[in-house]
Amino acid sequence: MDFANVLFGGPCNRRCPYCIGELLPDRVNVDNRDVFPPAGIDRFVDEVNARGIREIVFTGTTTDPQLYRHEVPLLELLRSRISGARYSVHTNGAVALQKIDVFNRYDRACISLPSFDPEIYARHMGSRQVPDVARILERARIPVKISCVLDADNARDLERFLSRCRALGVRRVVLRRQFGDTRTWEVPLRQTGTYRGNPVYDHDGVEVTYWDFDATTSTSLNLFADGSLGEEYLLVRSASRAAV
Ligand code: SF4
Repeated sequence: MDFANVLFGGPCNRRCPYCIGELLPDRVNVDNRDVFPPAGIDRFVDEVNARGIREIVFTGTTTDPQLYRHEVPLLELLRSRISGARYSVHTNGAVALQKIDVFNRYDRACISLPSFDPEIYARHMGSRQVPDVARILERARIPVKISCVLDADNARDLERFLSRCRALGVRRVVLRRQFGDTRTWEVPLRQTGTYRGNPVYDHDGVEVTYWDFDATTSTSLNLFADGSLGEEYLLVRSASRAAV
């Protein structure tokens, strides 16, 4: 097993029309933003240790992980009980600057950013407020990757988007499809390899991976907000089979 997700639930500061949490059973989407430690953490730690998982991700089903009010105590708890693991936060970046000291407590971060254009950003994220990625990168002390969900809006502008990322100092970008979207977007770049079955491209020194959930060979352990544990990479499948 490759990695483990700690998933948070509750209201979000964005309203993405393709929010994965909306596809999950209500029982796993409980609001745990103020619950410390999260329900099910002991079993999660035991499973992570038993399986030798060394990549742990803080992310959300219906909320942003940086809206969790106990990020630092939870990182400390996990670091004290799991040796040698790396921690990353997968966030929309909306409060990253406000919480930059907390953001820098992770080993690395991934920010969801469909576009720098407020109109396109709003169609994807339900808000015109594009996070100040330049400032976040200036203040970040950890590697920051950008994750971009493609659709017809932003796929046509991909090269400009990648150039802007590069100018800001981003060195890794992941392109994703919306869940259930079977369209394939053209990536007009030179392929340099593959990562877990996904094509990898180069854009003037920026490593661009076109992440295809359906084709990926990754698997994960998922701790849902209600304390249930599930396996499989696709959260929707994982939640429907989670042991309660
Ligand atoms: S930022 Fe994430 S959790 Fe929040 S609405 Fe968008 S997809 Fe859902």
